[in-house]
Amino acid sequence: MEGNQEVAQLWKECLDEAKARIPTSFVPMIAPLWPLSLQNGTLKVGVPSPFAKDFIESRFTDTLNDILSSKLGYSAKVVLTVSSPPEITESIAAGARIANVDEQEEPVIRERPAHGHDFHQKRYSFDNFVVGDSNKFAYNASLMVAEAPGQYYNPLFMHGGTGLGKTHLLLAIKDYAEKLNPEIKVRYVLTSLFIDDFIATATLKKDKAAFDQKYINNKIILFDDVHSLSGTEATQNKFFEIFNLLYSSNSHIVLTSDRPPEEIPKLSDRIKSRFQGGLKIDIKPPDIETRLAILRMKARAERVEMPDDAMLFIATKAVTNIRSLEGLFNQVVAYARVYGMKIDLQMVKERLRDQPAEPNQLRTPTVETIQNLVSDYYKIEKADLTGSSRSRALVHGRHVAMYLCRELTNETLISIGSKFGGRDHSTVLHSCRKIESKIRESSSVLEEVRELTSTIHKTT
Ligand code: ADP
Ligand code: MG
Repeated sequence: MEGNQEVAQLWKECLDEAKARIPTSFVPMIAPLWPLSLQNGTLKVGVPSPFAKDFIESRFTDTLNDILSSKLGYSAKVVLTVSSPPEITESIAAGARIANVDEQEEPVIRERPAHGHDFHQKRYSFDNFVVGDSNKFAYNASLMVAEAPGQYYNPLFMHGGTGLGKTHLLLAIKDYAEKLNPEIKVRYVLTSLFIDDFIATATLKKDKAAFDQKYINNKIILFDDVHSLSGTEATQNKFFEIFNLLYSSNSHIVLTSDRPPEEIPKLSDRIKSRFQGGLKIDIKPPDIETRLAILRMKARAERVEMPDDAMLFIATKAVTNIRSLEGLFNQVVAYARVYGMKIDLQMVKERLRDQPAEPNQLRTPTVETIQNLVSDYYKIEKADLTGSSRSRALVHGRHVAMYLCRELTNETLISIGSKFGGRDHSTVLHSCRKIESKIRESSSVLEEVRELTSTIHKTT
């Protein structure tokens, strides 16, 4: 993956997926970026100005890292660097060469071997969604929304852990509804960007009516990750107003969240009760059959041969998150392609030997494990970690521990709070936010969190 062409293509693929995942109004911000290099899991990408860098970093760091990691199959990050324009960077030159090859009329032998990476934009549709016991209700209800919007189960609220296909289902609803009726208006809205959009409209004195119209004027609206509404009062009022208008005009409202409505902290009761007024479905981690079916589908789509025992091995390594399952699969396939190897059990074992997390049946770490490892790491007593002392070193360790619990376990803020000496969920949320902002500001805190995460995964 060090070659310029490979890097250019990798970036192109990331960009394609990012375009599908971020609101169209922000696409022009990321489209002009160009790849510079890939080293040790860091993809350096050029941006034209410090403004663009700040803007993109503040909004899309997680999305870009997430996309890149899933392409590479290991935890990787995108780092933006303000640099000279693309014409004179080598990687873009390589990318342009590829484009020219594609444009030639005569068939040419492509520089990439025929079995090289098949870079394509991931489509999220019902056809490539594997249905099993864990997600069949969510699948069927989503299908019904696309086929008969506004008629049954409104609103549809789907909740479940990360990487279980919530976003996939929302985008599949859009894909299918638009196929059935090309005139239909369907809008996918990532809730955190709705919040940004609302705040920008309010503070920059932008056209408020246009804001409302954008959201109201839809037959189907898909609000992804509504747990982000937590604790944003003015936004919640606006959201409530828009929700009611949509509902009364018989538009279908579909919502996803990482937890059920009653567990979303600081969500107003009236919104909670609206969320509960339709159909609420939880999506569970996939069973082994479903995981194998997903791998088989991916192998077919990528046209790779993978024996059953090798698939089984991968399927037992990623248990609670389909994104990780795909990551492991991609990693094996990429390796086999780069080295021209056949995929068999031995090779897969070898390749995934050092995989953190999902090994050992990927058990989610417990709050207790995290507390123990964090106390060891910062050399503080566990009782102090959950206690009430306000000494600086203790407070930092405590915040990091709560942050890691929020990130790595499936526990709710309420339950995490109770395991940290009966703290309130809002205190936990506040601590997590503290660490999120420290991570952004200080590379040493980022490093601490990274080291701890890796230790926790190894221990679990
Ligand atoms: P979530 O939004 O719940 O965090 P995503 O929808 O982003 O999860 O899914 C993570 C990855 O797993 C995506 O690449 C998605 O296509 C894939 N995926 C999830 N569920 C399925 C499924 N049932 N069949 C096929 N792929 C799936
Ligand atoms: Mg999602």
